[in-house]
Amino acid sequence: MVHEWALAESIAMYVARVSKGRNVRRLVLSIGRLQSVDIEIFDFALKELLNEGNVVVDELKYLNEEILLKCRKCGFEWSPSLESLGSEVSECIHFIPEVIHSYITCPKCNSRDYDLLSGRGVKVVEVVLEEGGQ
Ligand SMILES: [Zn+2]
Repeated sequence: MVHEWALAESIAMYVARVSKGRNVRRLVLSIGRLQSVDIEIFDFALKELLNEGNVVVDELKYLNEEILLKCRKCGFEWSPSLESLGSEVSECIHFIPEVIHSYITCPKCNSRDYDLLSGRGVKVVEVVLEEGGQ
């Protein structure tokens, strides 16, 4: 899938830039639950791309990032469960995250005006580089 490769490419480029030829002891990534990322494809793509860039990563870890919404009206923050919406709707939200506004309202004030604080895309949580070297 193109999606996973594009995400993996941006992560690989970032890691190559910060590591500057040094080995990476540990790389921790968080994957937002709102984005449907196939971890197997992503992991394969990332390892391929790191290899191509001659970046050695000893330990690669993935974390799940929960979806967190914040109401613009009343300031309430919550994590909605997509499972309760049914598979068809949650599939649709995974594909186009903005669609979430049509299905979920603020549990406090019923507003549809809220921000997505987290749960989107792939983020680098930690990059630990090997000591010394150049
Ligand atoms: Zn609200």
